[in-house]
Amino acid sequence: MKAINPLLLLVEDDPQFQMLLSTTLESQDYRVLTAATGQDGLITARNHQPNLLILDLGLPDIDGQEVIRRLRKWSDLPIIVLSARNQESEITQALDNGADDYLTKPFSTAVLMSRIKALLRRVTKMPGGTQEIFQVGELKIELTKRRVFVGEQEVNLTPIEFNLLCVLIRHAGFVVTHRQLLEKVWGPSYVEHSHYLRIYMGQLRHKLEADPARPRYLLTEAGVGYRLSEGEN
Ligand code: CA
Repeated sequence: MKAINPLLLLVEDDPQFQMLLSTTLESQDYRVLTAATGQDGLITARNHQPNLLILDLGLPDIDGQEVIRRLRKWSDLPIIVLSARNQESEITQALDNGADDYLTKPFSTAVLMSRIKALLRRVTKMPGGTQEIFQVGELKIELTKRRVFVGEQEVNLTPIEFNLLCVLIRHAGFVVTHRQLLEKVWGPSYVEHSHYLRIYMGQLRHKLEADPARPRYLLTEAGVGYRLSEGEN
């Protein structure tokens, strides 16, 4: 039995870019729906139940942020937002509103394709739940035993370091914002304390990375948050 190709919804108001992107996606065997306004995007999402949404944040009618907020009231559809360059605060807000990942224009098609694949894979792998071992490169984490290894060497982490690593593992391959990390590890009243994050991320890198200044696993998304590499790219 042949699997049905995933259905993607692209909400983008620039007609040339919309055309270019939908042609590219179709060439990769995705089925593509398009909308040029936020309102039309929301209606199309409701009527067609796509597998993934690619959302430009700058739209002519309702703001992309508002599209995410309205959509998240009834849907957990994976969302990748597209943003203009140097709009970190906008990206952070979109992620905190419930978007799953982002790309800054201009972006490479290869990166977009790998993000789409990763998100679709995460959705299909979600039921069944908790994994026992997370592994990438030399790094191995036994989650229920709370043990961490770099190669053969066991590494001791403090409880906060371990919890921070766990949040990143749960979102492996995806960006997690400063606010989300602070809230999940320290609690809701700590969301402004981003210096905690810098300190603990520095310690984690020191313990887990061969070269903490040029991390392979714990990647910085400048101005936005952190991403744990899944080993691809
Ligand atoms: Ca736009």
